[in-house]
Parts: sequence; structure tokens; C-alpha cells
Amino acid sequence: MTASTPSQWTPSSWASKPVAQRVEYPDQQHLNSVLAKINTLPPLVTPAEIERLRHQLAAVQRNEAFLLHAGDCAESFDACTQERIAAKIGLILSFSLILVWGARIPVLRVGRIAGQYAKPRSSQTEKIGDRLVLNFRGDNVNGLDPNDRTPDPERLLSAYFHSAATLNYIRSLMTSGFASLHHPRDWSLSHVRSSTLRRKFESIVDGLADALDFSRAIGTESGKEGPYERGGGPGVLGQVDFFTSHEALMLDYEQAMTRKAPLPGDDASKPRADGFYNTSAHFLWVGDRTRQLDGAHIEYVRGIRNPIGIKVGPSLASEELTKLLEAVNPDKEPGRVTLITRYGAAKIRDHLPGHIQAVTQSGHPVTWVSDPMHGNTVTSASGLKTRNFGTIISELVSCISIHSECGSRLGGVSLEFTGEFNEEGFSVTECLGGSMELSEDQLELRYHSFCDPRLNLEQSLDVAFLVSNYFKE
Ligand code: PEP
Ligand code: MN
Repeated sequence: MTASTPSQWTPSSWASKPVAQRVEYPDQQHLNSVLAKINTLPPLVTPAEIERLRHQLAAVQRNEAFLLHAGDCAESFDACTQERIAAKIGLILSFSLILVWGARIPVLRVGRIAGQYAKPRSSQTEKIGDRLVLNFRGDNVNGLDPNDRTPDPERLLSAYFHSAATLNYIRSLMTSGFASLHHPRDWSLSHVRSSTLRRKFESIVDGLADALDFSRAIGTESGKEGPYERGGGPGVLGQVDFFTSHEALMLDYEQAMTRKAPLPGDDASKPRADGFYNTSAHFLWVGDRTRQLDGAHIEYVRGIRNPIGIKVGPSLASEELTKLLEAVNPDKEPGRVTLITRYGAAKIRDHLPGHIQAVTQSGHPVTWVSDPMHGNTVTSASGLKTRNFGTIISELVSCISIHSECGSRLGGVSLEFTGEFNEEGFSVTECLGGSMELSEDQLELRYHSFCDPRLNLEQSLDVAFLVSNYFKE
């Protein structure tokens, strides 16, 4: 075992611990053969990229950058299309441009994308008509169709290939001009319906075009890293870093994607120790339902080099939070842990100050991220799961204030949003309110999420302007 790998840890040591949200496969041999195949497939991301993300998260912890963690609640295999991937990336780029421009702070982008398939559920089964069927657990486990709910290991293999296709397209978008600051109008603008929002975004784009003209005129446009192009290679405009993430829920899959590789080291004359990397995504998080201190999910993530997110909700006691930090980051390494808080607008004041105090006292470096979505889910009168824009903003604004009251700082946001639109150019209608004032009777118009409700294009840009104004002040 290497110095960087904690004692008693192996890629499979999680299997001897209680596995919350376990999926029972009817044919274990079939599962094993699929996992063996996945284990031979090439990594989706590299150890060098993972180390770069750790580095950039350490910069977020030093208040030198802001983290945007965003994407779907759950991806579906059907959504793996050119249009839908480009719409997601376009929205993430637009959102981060608003922040960079308004708050003059570099934005680190981590998508919930290229592997975010599995979902934890509050119950194993659900009633459909008079039938009791297994719950849908995500496209990498079973089907949404009630007749297709038996977990099928082949879906894990399919998840690998859909992740690979998604990531391949993201990488090409990032290197072929789509992400270029010279083309922000291509990202989302043609589908923004609100004229006020369009004007606000247009004014940024115009200001940016002027700034770029000016840099070109004085000859500083390339060769130097700007705030937007951090760490993205030579600093050429148009090449930006983009990282992927998903919930580390299906540990069989995560284990199969875990590979040993030499740790970074500058001294070429010294042999480098090995570490373990999860090569299915740059960033992995453990959900609110699977973060038990003695459980399998924490056991798995404590041994990998990837930066780790831990969801923190009202049920987490402060002492347990510090024990979790000890377990996953005993050496207190910067950039290693991100705490994604999700209490609910009405509960945040009761819990966040205590959590901040406990973490500060423990001396653990963390990135504090607000997820204002997961504590604020409600059911509409018509029975749809929704979230109110006002409540989401309320949790986010409280989070920013509580951090400054406690001498801490919010380092990022974690959002469920989608830039997707239909053939007529209309965005989804899953969350209430926002500048488009979406009302309850409009929810059913274009409710496409098969999991949690997402902010649409306009609502997401509303949030971006709000956050950017907060950090400007
Ligand atoms: C999620 O991020 O989609 C999720 C299920 O969150 P949580 O674990 O915080 O409920
Ligand atoms: Mn969700």
C-alpha cells in the first residue's frame, strides 16, 4: 500500500460495510462479468486532470475562484444528444460568464454530467395503479417503464459508453471554439425569451467584445491566462477547463473504474508512490442518504485521490461532520473536500452556523457550497414535484449572509438546471417563479424531468445575475 492510500483501504474494502441504497441484481455472475469488462475499458478522465481539479479547488478555498457545480438531477441515456449536451454546456458557460464579468472572479466549472445516472430513492418500491413495482433507480440500473424495473447489469456498461460519448462531445466543444469568449451569443441567447434578461446578457457580451478588441489592440489577448481561462493549457482564448462529476452511488461501478497511478511529483530522480484514482469522473460526491460514517460509500471515497463532495443536511450532527472530515481527509489537504449544504430555506439558520463553527474549530480546509435545491422540494396541487424560485433564492441569500456572519465564505453553488428547450424554442417548466413568473398551472406545459425539478434557462440566468451582484458588493 502506498503512503497516500489510507490504511486498511482497497478499492473493494467498501464491500464489507453496510451499503445504503444497495441495488439487488438477480444474477450476480452476470454483474461480475459486466464489471470485469468495465475494469478493462480505458479511463474516462486522467489522474493529471483530477490533480488539476484538486489544485483549482484549493484556489476556491483561498477565495481566488468560485465553484459552479451544475447540471441535471439525473441524466438519461435518451438525453445523450448533440443538442441537449450543447444546451447544458452553453448554459454553464453563460452562467459562469455572468459571474466572471459581474463579480470579477474566476469560475471553476464542474458539471453534473457524463455519468450522473444513478439516483437514491426514499423507498424501494412504488405503487403504480394497483401494482407495487421496484422504484426507478436511474438509467444505469433499471428502466423508467414500470415493466422494466428489474436491475440489469448491462445498463452499467451502457452508462460507461454514454458517459464516454457525452464527455467526448464536451471535450470537442471545449477545444473547437464553442467555448470561446468570442462567441457567447452561441451559448443560449437565442432561446432566452425575457427581453430584460436578454438585454442584461447582451450588455455583458458587448462589454466583453470591447474588452477583447482592446486586448487584441494592445497585443495581450493570447499567451496569458485570463480570469476565464484558468489553468486551461496555454491560456489561449477559447480553451477552458471543464470538469465532470456524479454521485458515487453505485460502488460496484466506481470500483471497476478505480485505477492505480503514480502520484504527481516534481522530482524526476525520485520514484513516485502510487495512488488510486476514480477515472469515471473528476469529482465525486456522497449523497445525504449514503454519508454514514461507518458505511460503504464513505469507506470507498476515503481511499481515492479525487476531490470529494459531501452533502450536508439538517440531519447531520456537527460532531459527525468533523468525524467525516477526519475520515476522508485525515491530512487536512486543501482542495480535497467540498461540503455541499442543503438544509431548506426554513432550516438553514438552525444548522449552518453550528456546522461552520465545528469545521472552523477542527481546522479542516473545506470548500463551502450552497445547494439551495434539495432542501426546498415541494409537491404542487396537481401532484408534481417542484421548487419555488423565491425559496431557492432565500436559502442561497441566507447562506451567503450566514457565512459572512460566521467569518467564513461561500465558495460556490450547486444547482440543478437545464438549458434545454423544445422544438418551438421553449424552456422546461419545472420550477415556479423567477423573472418569467412561472405559475402552478404552467408546470404541466413542459415538465420533462423524470427526477428532481430543474431551473430552466431564464431562471438559471436570474440566479447567475443575483449571485454575481452579491459578490460584486
Ligand atoms: C442530488 O444531488 O440529486 C441528491 C439526491 O441530493 P441529496 O443527496 O442532497 O438529497
Ligand atoms: Mn436531485
